[in-house]
Amino acid sequence: MAHNIAEKFLTDSAVKSFDQTHRNVININIDKYNLAFERGKSKFFNLDNSKKKAHILKWKVMENLDRYLLDFESNFTRRGGNVVWANDIKEAQLEIERIIDLHRAKSIIKSKSMATEEIDLNNFLEKKGLETIESDLGEFIIQLLGQKPYHFVTPAMHLTLQDIAKLFNEKFDTPLDATAEQLTMTAREILREKYKKADIGISGANFIIADSGSIAITENEGNARLTTTFPKVHIAVVGIEKVIPSIHDLDLLWPLLASHGTGQNLTVYNTILSGPRQASESDGPEEMYVILLDNGRTNLLAEKDQRQGLYCIRCGSCLNVCPVYQNIGGHTYDTTYQGPIGSLISPHLQGLKDFKHLSHASSLCGKCTEVCPVGIDIHKMLLLNRKEAVDQNLVSTVEKQAWKGFTYGIQRRKLVDLFGGKFKNFFMKFFFKKTWGTNRDLPKIAEKSFSKQWKEQEKLK
Ligand code: SF4
Repeated sequence: MAHNIAEKFLTDSAVKSFDQTHRNVININIDKYNLAFERGKSKFFNLDNSKKKAHILKWKVMENLDRYLLDFESNFTRRGGNVVWANDIKEAQLEIERIIDLHRAKSIIKSKSMATEEIDLNNFLEKKGLETIESDLGEFIIQLLGQKPYHFVTPAMHLTLQDIAKLFNEKFDTPLDATAEQLTMTAREILREKYKKADIGISGANFIIADSGSIAITENEGNARLTTTFPKVHIAVVGIEKVIPSIHDLDLLWPLLASHGTGQNLTVYNTILSGPRQASESDGPEEMYVILLDNGRTNLLAEKDQRQGLYCIRCGSCLNVCPVYQNIGGHTYDTTYQGPIGSLISPHLQGLKDFKHLSHASSLCGKCTEVCPVGIDIHKMLLLNRKEAVDQNLVSTVEKQAWKGFTYGIQRRKLVDLFGGKFKNFFMKFFFKKTWGTNRDLPKIAEKSFSKQWKEQEKLK
């Protein structure tokens, strides 16, 4: 299976890299992001200092994760909220099913949540005969297409306005030349009806706040507010690494997330929810559940070096700047989290054996590390993932033998110089042609080694 996943990744990457249309669309969208990002960054008095502070804050969280999660649980339940701990996908799915059954719910509205993507919630609920509608516009489009998100911040980044107009024309009979405003209004009308009928609203959360017992949701469309307040029951599915110590930490994290995610100073809607509707309040759900999802996160926490991967606030900027992501696109990764951070955490969340190849999908240029608002040393962590795969004996025998032979030879100058360039080039072709790929020429080894040439020159003096 591991072999198949890695092979598929290579095949899909090769196809996508030569897809000129894909490249044009992504270049246009990433150019727009770059412009906004520059503007967003310029609003910081001292961005480096803010990034350092965020790094230290997340370090503190990971060193005391259990304490902050328990603080959140006791503060949230005190206000009438319910906390459910889910170890894995199955547990999370079953707990959500239990809540749905308890409330005899028939229809569900969702706002954007990568944790629910991770647990494949839509498919699970669909199989149970429950209608689940995505209310975020990008996610709604992706759902209509039957695709997975292309990017965990901008799920429909790979589509043009024409693509979406064509889709809406097929599904809702809107004009083929509809404008973005017309398409948005159509989606809005459809979704408004769904909100009214929905029995349960399901969301994710950007932060879990320990001291106030709340969750914080960041968005630009307002759909998460409707999802979490219209239906009688609200379920939030959140990864345990999202916890922060205090509500005051949002001062630092909200602007960092908004500027790096979309280039905004702050996103349009920032909502803090602290349990179900209280007696003195006029709106909000009657019941609120927070599902704290582990699903491999504690595996990553156990890795002393790579645990930095859990600092991620999912801004998506490392994807936008990554030359590999820009060429192969988001779907190729076939994981919930794409790009450099996806390559770092997916092997721990979904299994090193099956996803170790992603740690090699990097030029190690370091752009991801440079841009990360919480200072994760992403490209170094990718190297550590590679090392771990070797330590766990997860590399092929051919690769191991090749490196053994190389190490043996390179440490013995006489042996290297024993063979001429012709033989070495033949050797390279024989062993590396396949892994090198068909689109690049193998480097040519000179007839005589540098050391040999040097010695010969010295003799001539
Ligand atoms: S790793 Fe850093 S840059 Fe990438 S999504 Fe997470 S916070 Fe953003």
